[in-house]
Amino acid sequence: MPTLRIEPQLLESLTAVELGHAAQTGDRALVRDYHSFADPVYERCAPAERDKAFAQLHLVWFEQRGWRKWFGARWAEFPELAARAAGLLLLEARWKQEEGAVLGRDSTGVCLRVLPIRFANRAQFEVFVRHEFLHACDMLDPAFGYRIEHSEPCSAANASAERYRALWCAYVDARMTRRGFVSLVQPDTHRRALAHAFSALTAAQQTALFEQVWNAATLTHAELYERARRLEDKRTNAPRPGTRCPLCFFPTFDWASNIAPAVARSIRADFPTWDVSNGACARCVERYELTIHG
Ligand SMILES: [Zn+2]
Ligand SMILES: [Zn+2]
Repeated sequence: MPTLRIEPQLLESLTAVELGHAAQTGDRALVRDYHSFADPVYERCAPAERDKAFAQLHLVWFEQRGWRKWFGARWAEFPELAARAAGLLLLEARWKQEEGAVLGRDSTGVCLRVLPIRFANRAQFEVFVRHEFLHACDMLDPAFGYRIEHSEPCSAANASAERYRALWCAYVDARMTRRGFVSLVQPDTHRRALAHAFSALTAAQQTALFEQVWNAATLTHAELYERARRLEDKRTNAPRPGTRCPLCFFPTFDWASNIAPAVARSIRADFPTWDVSNGACARCVERYELTIHG
């Protein structure tokens, strides 16, 4: 790994977590080690210097516990990271929603925010870090084309961000499985998360969406974002009974339930800005069906 930096706050917290865990599980040796190591600081250092001395001590502890090596080993499991990222910065998350990988301001470093409690269980932490590293690989991959979208109003943005996250996490875990790693959560959990995020879709549509994302060899940010957003468009533009048909401008209570792609193409030839999600009255659609069949 090129560089690993860790925020002092996280160093302090993870040391406390490891000691707490050791005390709970009866690992006296670890607690003793720490005290033989830390207690002299109280004797040696004046109160004003202790903070600095402890910060250094926690860094040594981090090394001695093998964490730097451990992160290096996870990093090495993703050749894309070694090729594209300059380094890793570890930061403390205060709550679960804050956790996860993002790119640094220069877009080459990976910042990983984690809850200190993760350091108590290496096996579970490993799965979490790999999952986040694969998100980071996507963000660094020009073919994935990650970008932060600013185009939507806030209320819509929150809902589509939740859907985007559900799709992306499923896509990440599917590839974890194919690489022979344990996935962060089970496929069924992703299926349920997608069903929840896409509650406006029918059960069959939700299943189809899950299968698409779970089995896709490659997806791009734009494709995921499009899937997450499309629903919003449908919802806001869904024709309501009594509103005007965009083609004949008559108020209609009889919206066409299904518009075949060939019919949609022929409508668009006359109305270039029209889209299936705008809908059309049954009479207009019938008329276009006749023109393409006749
Ligand atoms: Zn995820
Ligand atoms: Zn019409």
